[in-house]
Amino acid sequence: MPHLWCTGLEVHQSLLNPLLIPIDDFFPEKPAFQRVLLRWYSTHQRDLPWRKDRNPYRILVSEFMLQQTRVEAVVPYFERFLRLFPTLKDLSRAPRQKVLKAWEGMGYYARARNLHAAAKIICRDLHNRIPSVKEELLKLPGLGSYTAGAVSSLAFNQRVAAVDGNVRRVLNRLFPQWSDSPKSPGKKEIDRFMEHLIPAGRVSEFNQAMMDLGAMVCIPLRPRCSLCPVQKFCASRGGVGEEKKPVKKLREETWAIALVEKEGLFFLQRNQEKGLLAGLWQFPRVVLKNNYEMSGEPGAKAALKKYLWGNFGLRIKIEAPLAEEEYFFTHIHATMKPYLCRSMERQLGSFAAKNVRWVGPSHFHRYPISTAMKKIAALIKN
Ligand code: SF4
Repeated sequence: MPHLWCTGLEVHQSLLNPLLIPIDDFFPEKPAFQRVLLRWYSTHQRDLPWRKDRNPYRILVSEFMLQQTRVEAVVPYFERFLRLFPTLKDLSRAPRQKVLKAWEGMGYYARARNLHAAAKIICRDLHNRIPSVKEELLKLPGLGSYTAGAVSSLAFNQRVAAVDGNVRRVLNRLFPQWSDSPKSPGKKEIDRFMEHLIPAGRVSEFNQAMMDLGAMVCIPLRPRCSLCPVQKFCASRGGVGEEKKPVKKLREETWAIALVEKEGLFFLQRNQEKGLLAGLWQFPRVVLKNNYEMSGEPGAKAALKKYLWGNFGLRIKIEAPLAEEEYFFTHIHATMKPYLCRSMERQLGSFAAKNVRWVGPSHFHRYPISTAMKKIAALIKN
Protein backbone atom coordinates (compact mmCIF):
# COMPACT_ATOMS: atom_id res chain seq x y z
CA MET A 1 0.00 0.00 0.00
CA PRO A 2 1.69 3.25 -1.06
CA HIS A 3 1.80 6.20 1.32
CA LEU A 4 -0.81 8.82 0.59
CA TRP A 5 0.32 12.17 1.82
CA CYS A 6 -3.13 13.62 1.31
CA THR A 7 -5.48 10.96 2.50
CA GLY A 8 -9.22 10.41 2.16
CA LEU A 9 -9.54 12.21 -1.16
CA GLU A 10 -11.32 11.26 -4.36
CA VAL A 11 -9.17 9.57 -6.98
CA HIS A 12 -10.37 11.85 -9.76
CA GLN A 13 -9.12 14.87 -7.78
CA SER A 14 -5.61 13.43 -7.80
CA LEU A 15 -5.60 13.54 -11.59
CA LEU A 16 -6.17 17.28 -11.44
CA ASN A 17 -3.88 17.95 -8.53
CA PRO A 18 -0.39 16.43 -8.31
CA LEU A 19 -0.40 17.14 -4.56
CA LEU A 20 -2.99 14.44 -4.02
CA ILE A 21 -1.14 11.61 -5.72
CA PRO A 22 0.49 8.92 -3.52
CA ILE A 23 4.10 9.99 -2.97
CA ASP A 24 5.56 6.77 -4.42
CA ASP A 25 3.66 7.43 -7.68
CA PHE A 26 4.31 11.15 -7.65
CA PHE A 27 8.02 10.74 -6.92
CA PRO A 28 9.14 7.20 -7.86
CA GLU A 29 12.80 8.26 -7.66
CA LYS A 30 12.41 8.74 -3.90
CA PRO A 31 14.86 5.98 -2.81
CA ALA A 32 17.56 7.19 -5.22
CA PHE A 33 16.99 10.80 -4.10
CA GLN A 34 17.42 9.80 -0.45
CA ARG A 35 20.65 7.92 -1.18
CA VAL A 36 22.21 10.71 -3.24
CA LEU A 37 21.30 13.44 -0.77
CA LEU A 38 22.58 11.54 2.27
CA ARG A 39 25.83 10.66 0.51
CA TRP A 40 26.37 14.34 -0.34
CA TYR A 41 25.56 15.34 3.25
CA SER A 42 28.11 12.89 4.67
CA THR A 43 30.92 14.87 3.03
CA HIS A 44 29.50 18.41 2.69
CA GLN A 45 27.59 19.04 5.92
CA ARG A 46 28.18 22.35 7.67
CA ASP A 47 30.40 22.19 10.74
CA LEU A 48 28.13 23.71 13.38
CA PRO A 49 28.76 23.60 17.14
CA TRP A 50 25.30 22.22 18.01
CA ARG A 51 25.82 19.30 15.66
CA LYS A 52 28.79 17.80 17.50
CA ASP A 53 26.39 15.42 19.22
CA ARG A 54 22.65 15.09 19.46
CA ASN A 55 22.45 16.80 22.83
CA PRO A 56 18.79 17.95 23.08
CA TYR A 57 19.64 21.01 25.22
CA ARG A 58 22.22 22.31 22.72
CA ILE A 59 19.79 21.71 19.85
CA LEU A 60 16.97 23.46 21.74
CA VAL A 61 19.16 26.54 22.35
CA SER A 62 20.36 26.63 18.74
CA GLU A 63 16.84 26.36 17.33
CA PHE A 64 15.62 29.26 19.48
CA MET A 65 18.55 31.37 18.31
CA LEU A 66 18.01 30.40 14.68
CA GLN A 67 14.37 31.48 14.72
CA GLN A 68 15.29 35.00 13.60
CA THR A 69 19.05 35.05 13.14
CA ARG A 70 21.35 33.70 10.43
CA VAL A 71 23.50 30.66 11.18
CA GLU A 72 26.84 32.50 10.87
CA ALA A 73 25.69 35.19 13.30
CA VAL A 74 24.35 32.63 15.78
CA VAL A 75 27.57 30.59 16.17
CA PRO A 76 29.51 33.00 18.50
CA TYR A 77 26.39 33.74 20.56
CA PHE A 78 25.66 30.04 20.89
CA GLU A 79 29.16 29.27 22.14
CA ARG A 80 29.10 32.11 24.66
CA PHE A 81 25.60 31.17 25.85
CA LEU A 82 26.68 27.56 26.43
CA ARG A 83 29.72 28.73 28.40
CA LEU A 84 27.42 30.79 30.65
CA PHE A 85 24.67 28.16 30.90
CA PRO A 86 26.25 24.76 30.15
CA THR A 87 23.16 22.74 31.14
CA LEU A 88 19.41 23.10 31.13
CA LYS A 89 19.50 23.30 34.92
CA ASP A 90 22.00 26.17 34.83
CA LEU A 91 19.72 28.04 32.47
CA SER A 92 16.58 27.37 34.51
CA ARG A 93 18.25 28.71 37.68
CA ALA A 94 19.75 31.83 36.08
CA PRO A 95 18.18 35.25 36.75
CA ARG A 96 16.15 36.61 33.84
CA GLN A 97 18.43 39.63 33.48
CA LYS A 98 21.51 37.44 33.03
CA VAL A 99 19.78 35.49 30.24
CA LEU A 100 18.73 38.71 28.49
CA LYS A 101 22.25 40.05 28.84
CA ALA A 102 23.66 36.92 27.18
CA TRP A 103 21.20 37.45 24.32
CA GLU A 104 22.18 41.09 23.85
CA GLY A 105 22.98 41.98 20.25
CA MET A 106 20.85 39.26 18.65
CA GLY A 107 17.56 41.10 19.13
CA TYR A 108 14.11 39.49 19.26
CA TYR A 109 14.40 39.10 23.01
CA ALA A 110 11.08 37.25 23.25
CA ARG A 111 13.11 34.20 22.20
CA ALA A 112 15.37 34.52 25.25
CA ARG A 113 12.41 34.96 27.59
CA ASN A 114 10.60 31.96 26.07
CA LEU A 115 13.70 29.75 26.16
CA HIS A 116 14.27 30.66 29.79
CA ALA A 117 10.61 29.97 30.64
CA ALA A 118 10.72 26.64 28.77
CA ALA A 119 13.86 25.59 30.68
CA LYS A 120 12.14 26.36 33.99
CA ILE A 121 9.06 24.32 33.03
CA ILE A 122 11.15 21.34 31.87
CA CYS A 123 13.19 21.32 35.08
CA ARG A 124 10.22 21.89 37.37
CA ASP A 125 7.56 19.69 35.73
CA LEU A 126 9.36 17.23 33.44
CA HIS A 127 12.26 15.97 35.60
CA ASN A 128 14.84 17.92 33.54
CA ARG A 129 14.03 15.93 30.41
CA ILE A 130 13.31 17.76 27.18
CA PRO A 131 10.32 16.02 25.53
CA SER A 132 11.08 13.99 22.42
CA VAL A 133 7.57 14.10 20.93
CA LYS A 134 6.57 17.09 18.83
CA GLU A 135 3.12 17.42 20.41
CA GLU A 136 4.71 17.67 23.89
CA LEU A 137 7.29 20.19 22.71
CA LEU A 138 4.51 22.34 21.27
CA LYS A 139 3.14 22.86 24.80
CA LEU A 140 6.30 24.76 25.81
CA PRO A 141 6.57 28.54 25.36
CA GLY A 142 8.19 29.75 22.15
CA LEU A 143 8.09 26.41 20.30
CA GLY A 144 6.01 26.56 17.12
CA SER A 145 5.56 23.78 14.62
CA TYR A 146 8.97 24.23 12.96
CA THR A 147 11.05 24.48 16.16
CA ALA A 148 9.23 21.55 17.79
CA GLY A 149 9.74 19.46 14.62
CA ALA A 150 13.42 20.40 14.47
CA VAL A 151 14.11 19.48 18.12
CA SER A 152 12.12 16.25 17.89
CA SER A 153 13.77 15.12 14.65
CA LEU A 154 17.33 16.41 15.07
CA ALA A 155 17.79 15.47 18.73
CA PHE A 156 15.58 12.37 18.98
CA ASN A 157 15.39 11.12 15.38
CA GLN A 158 11.58 11.18 15.55
CA ARG A 159 9.93 10.96 12.14
CA VAL A 160 8.67 14.51 11.86
CA ALA A 161 9.34 17.25 9.34
CA ALA A 162 11.41 20.36 10.00
CA VAL A 163 10.60 22.58 7.04
CA ASP A 164 12.35 25.92 7.38
CA GLY A 165 12.70 28.54 4.63
CA ASN A 166 15.65 26.68 3.07
CA VAL A 167 13.82 23.36 2.86
CA ARG A 168 10.66 24.97 1.53
CA ARG A 169 12.67 26.63 -1.26
CA VAL A 170 14.32 23.34 -2.25
CA LEU A 171 10.94 21.60 -2.38
CA ASN A 172 9.36 24.39 -4.42
CA ARG A 173 12.16 24.09 -6.97
CA LEU A 174 12.24 20.30 -7.03
CA PHE A 175 8.48 20.23 -7.65
CA PRO A 176 7.53 23.44 -9.47
CA GLN A 177 4.29 21.80 -10.61
CA TRP A 178 2.98 22.47 -7.09
CA SER A 179 2.53 26.11 -7.82
CA ASP A 180 0.61 25.23 -11.01
CA SER A 181 -1.79 22.94 -9.17
CA PRO A 182 -5.34 24.16 -8.48
CA LYS A 183 -4.48 24.49 -4.80
CA SER A 184 -0.86 25.09 -3.83
CA PRO A 185 0.23 23.10 -0.77
CA GLY A 186 -0.19 24.50 2.69
CA LYS A 187 2.20 24.02 5.60
CA LYS A 188 0.52 20.87 6.85
CA GLU A 189 0.58 19.23 3.40
CA ILE A 190 4.28 20.07 2.95
CA ASP A 191 5.07 18.64 6.41
CA ARG A 192 3.17 15.44 5.57
CA PHE A 193 5.00 15.16 2.25
CA MET A 194 8.36 15.57 3.96
CA GLU A 195 7.51 12.95 6.56
CA HIS A 196 7.00 10.44 3.73
CA LEU A 197 10.15 11.59 1.95
CA ILE A 198 12.39 10.95 4.99
CA PRO A 199 14.09 7.51 4.98
CA ALA A 200 13.34 5.33 7.99
CA GLY A 201 15.85 5.65 10.83
CA ARG A 202 17.76 8.59 9.32
CA VAL A 203 15.46 11.49 10.14
CA SER A 204 18.03 13.70 11.83
CA GLU A 205 20.55 13.43 8.99
CA PHE A 206 17.96 13.76 6.24
CA ASN A 207 16.33 16.89 7.67
CA GLN A 208 19.72 18.51 8.15
CA ALA A 209 20.78 17.47 4.65
CA MET A 210 17.75 19.26 3.19
CA MET A 211 18.54 22.36 5.28
CA ASP A 212 22.18 22.36 4.17
CA LEU A 213 21.25 21.87 0.53
CA GLY A 214 19.03 24.96 0.74
CA ALA A 215 21.62 26.97 2.65
CA MET A 216 24.66 26.12 0.53
CA VAL A 217 23.52 25.05 -2.95
CA CYS A 218 19.89 25.83 -3.64
CA ILE A 219 20.35 29.39 -2.40
CA PRO A 220 17.78 32.16 -2.92
CA LEU A 221 19.78 34.10 -5.51
CA ARG A 222 21.15 32.09 -8.44
CA PRO A 223 21.09 28.51 -7.14
CA ARG A 224 24.27 26.52 -7.84
CA CYS A 225 22.59 23.87 -9.97
CA SER A 226 25.84 22.65 -11.53
CA LEU A 227 27.06 21.65 -8.03
CA CYS A 228 23.75 20.24 -6.88
CA PRO A 229 23.73 16.56 -5.89
CA VAL A 230 20.03 16.17 -6.70
CA GLN A 231 19.93 18.06 -9.98
CA LYS A 232 18.88 14.99 -11.94
CA PHE A 233 15.68 14.85 -9.86
CA CYS A 234 14.93 18.56 -10.14
CA ALA A 235 12.41 19.93 -12.61
CA SER A 236 13.78 23.48 -12.23
CA ARG A 237 17.51 22.86 -12.61
CA GLY A 238 19.25 25.69 -14.40
CA GLY A 239 16.02 27.58 -14.95
CA VAL A 240 15.40 29.22 -11.63
CA GLY A 241 15.41 32.99 -11.28
CA GLU A 242 15.97 34.94 -8.10
CA GLU A 243 13.59 34.18 -5.29
CA LYS A 244 11.46 37.24 -4.71
CA LYS A 245 10.72 37.99 -1.10
CA PRO A 246 7.48 39.76 -0.27
CA VAL A 247 8.17 43.31 0.81
CA LYS A 248 7.06 43.84 4.40
CA LYS A 249 5.32 47.08 5.19
CA LEU A 250 6.82 48.65 8.29
CA ARG A 251 4.95 50.80 10.76
CA GLU A 252 6.55 54.24 11.07
CA GLU A 253 7.12 55.44 14.65
CA THR A 254 8.84 58.53 16.01
CA TRP A 255 10.35 58.27 19.49
CA ALA A 256 11.43 61.09 21.75
CA ILE A 257 14.16 59.87 24.11
CA ALA A 258 15.38 61.58 27.27
CA LEU A 259 19.02 61.23 28.30
CA VAL A 260 18.56 62.62 31.80
CA GLU A 261 21.85 63.38 33.52
CA LYS A 262 22.68 64.17 37.14
CA GLU A 263 26.18 64.16 38.59
CA GLY A 264 27.57 62.23 35.64
CA LEU A 265 24.95 59.47 35.93
CA PHE A 266 22.07 58.79 33.54
CA PHE A 267 18.54 57.69 34.28
CA LEU A 268 17.71 54.21 32.98
CA GLN A 269 14.40 52.38 33.26
CA ARG A 270 13.53 48.77 32.64
CA ASN A 271 10.72 48.04 30.20
CA GLN A 272 7.66 46.11 31.21
CA GLU A 273 7.67 42.36 30.60
CA LYS A 274 5.41 42.67 27.57
CA GLY A 275 5.64 44.42 24.22
CA LEU A 276 8.57 45.78 22.23
CA LEU A 277 11.97 45.42 24.01
CA ALA A 278 10.25 43.79 26.99
CA GLY A 279 12.45 43.41 30.08
CA LEU A 280 15.35 45.42 28.60
CA TRP A 281 16.83 48.63 30.00
CA GLN A 282 16.49 51.90 28.14
CA PHE A 283 16.55 55.67 28.37
CA PRO A 284 13.00 56.94 28.94
CA ARG A 285 11.20 56.86 25.60
CA VAL A 286 7.90 58.24 24.39
CA VAL A 287 6.24 57.20 21.14
CA LEU A 288 5.03 60.48 19.69
CA LYS A 289 1.41 60.20 18.71
CA ASN A 290 -0.53 63.29 17.80
CA ASN A 291 0.22 66.12 15.40
CA TYR A 292 1.34 68.45 18.17
CA GLU A 293 3.94 65.98 19.50
CA MET A 294 5.14 65.13 16.00
CA SER A 295 5.18 68.70 14.69
CA GLY A 296 8.52 69.75 16.20
CA GLU A 297 10.60 70.15 19.28
CA PRO A 298 8.05 71.80 21.61
CA GLY A 299 5.64 68.87 21.28
CA ALA A 300 8.32 66.22 21.77
CA LYS A 301 9.82 68.03 24.76
CA ALA A 302 6.42 68.47 26.40
CA ALA A 303 5.69 64.74 25.92
CA LEU A 304 8.98 63.76 27.58
CA LYS A 305 8.49 66.11 30.54
CA LYS A 306 4.98 64.80 31.09
CA TYR A 307 6.14 61.18 30.89
CA LEU A 308 9.00 61.58 33.38
CA TRP A 309 6.95 63.55 35.85
CA GLY A 310 3.88 61.31 35.54
CA ASN A 311 5.77 58.02 35.87
CA PHE A 312 8.74 58.84 38.10
CA GLY A 313 8.05 62.22 39.72
CA LEU A 314 11.17 63.50 37.96
CA ARG A 315 11.36 67.13 36.81
CA ILE A 316 13.74 67.74 33.95
CA LYS A 317 15.19 70.61 31.97
CA ILE A 318 15.73 69.79 28.32
CA GLU A 319 19.04 71.25 27.21
CA ALA A 320 19.75 70.21 23.65
CA PRO A 321 18.58 67.90 20.89
CA LEU A 322 21.17 65.34 19.77
CA ALA A 323 21.58 63.77 16.35
CA GLU A 324 18.61 61.71 15.20
CA GLU A 325 19.09 57.96 14.78
CA GLU A 326 16.92 55.33 13.14
CA TYR A 327 16.41 51.65 13.75
CA PHE A 328 14.56 48.90 11.89
CA PHE A 329 12.69 46.23 13.79
CA THR A 330 10.84 43.45 11.93
CA HIS A 331 7.63 45.44 11.87
CA ILE A 332 8.63 48.97 12.90
CA HIS A 333 10.87 51.67 11.47
CA ALA A 334 11.71 53.91 14.43
CA THR A 335 13.04 57.44 14.04
CA MET A 336 14.69 58.26 17.38
CA LYS A 337 14.95 61.89 18.54
CA PRO A 338 17.22 62.01 21.60
CA TYR A 339 17.39 65.02 23.93
CA LEU A 340 20.09 65.75 26.49
CA CYS A 341 18.31 66.67 29.75
CA ARG A 342 19.23 67.60 33.33
CA SER A 343 17.41 66.39 36.36
CA MET A 344 15.95 69.35 38.30
CA GLU A 345 15.72 67.32 41.50
CA ARG A 346 18.12 68.30 44.26
CA GLN A 347 19.26 64.77 44.78
CA LEU A 348 19.47 61.67 42.66
CA GLY A 349 16.47 60.33 44.52
CA SER A 350 16.05 56.86 45.82
CA PHE A 351 13.44 55.09 43.78
CA ALA A 352 11.64 52.31 45.51
CA ALA A 353 10.89 50.63 42.20
CA LYS A 354 13.34 47.99 41.01
CA ASN A 355 12.88 49.18 37.46
CA VAL A 356 14.91 52.41 37.50
CA ARG A 357 18.60 53.19 38.05
CA TRP A 358 21.10 56.04 37.82
CA VAL A 359 24.01 54.59 35.84
CA GLY A 360 27.34 55.97 34.65
CA PRO A 361 28.18 55.47 30.95
CA SER A 362 31.09 53.17 31.85
CA HIS A 363 28.58 50.83 33.52
CA PHE A 364 25.94 50.68 30.76
CA HIS A 365 27.43 47.38 29.62
CA ARG A 366 26.24 45.71 32.83
CA TYR A 367 22.61 46.08 31.76
CA PRO A 368 20.79 44.29 28.93
CA ILE A 369 20.17 47.14 26.49
CA SER A 370 18.71 46.80 22.98
CA THR A 371 20.84 47.58 19.94
CA ALA A 372 18.54 50.53 19.17
CA MET A 373 19.24 52.08 22.60
CA LYS A 374 22.96 51.33 22.29
CA LYS A 375 22.99 53.69 19.31
CA ILE A 376 21.64 56.38 21.64
CA ALA A 377 24.09 55.48 24.44
CA ALA A 378 26.94 55.89 21.94
CA LEU A 379 25.95 59.56 21.53
CA ILE A 380 26.85 60.14 25.20
CA LYS A 381 30.19 58.43 24.92
CA ASN A 382 30.98 60.41 21.77
FE1 SF4 B 1 17.97 23.85 -6.45
FE2 SF4 B 1 19.21 23.81 -8.82
FE3 SF4 B 1 19.44 21.73 -7.13
FE4 SF4 B 1 17.14 22.21 -8.36
S1 SF4 B 1 19.09 21.65 -9.33
S2 SF4 B 1 17.41 21.70 -6.19
S3 SF4 B 1 17.10 24.45 -8.42
S4 SF4 B 1 20.17 23.85 -6.83
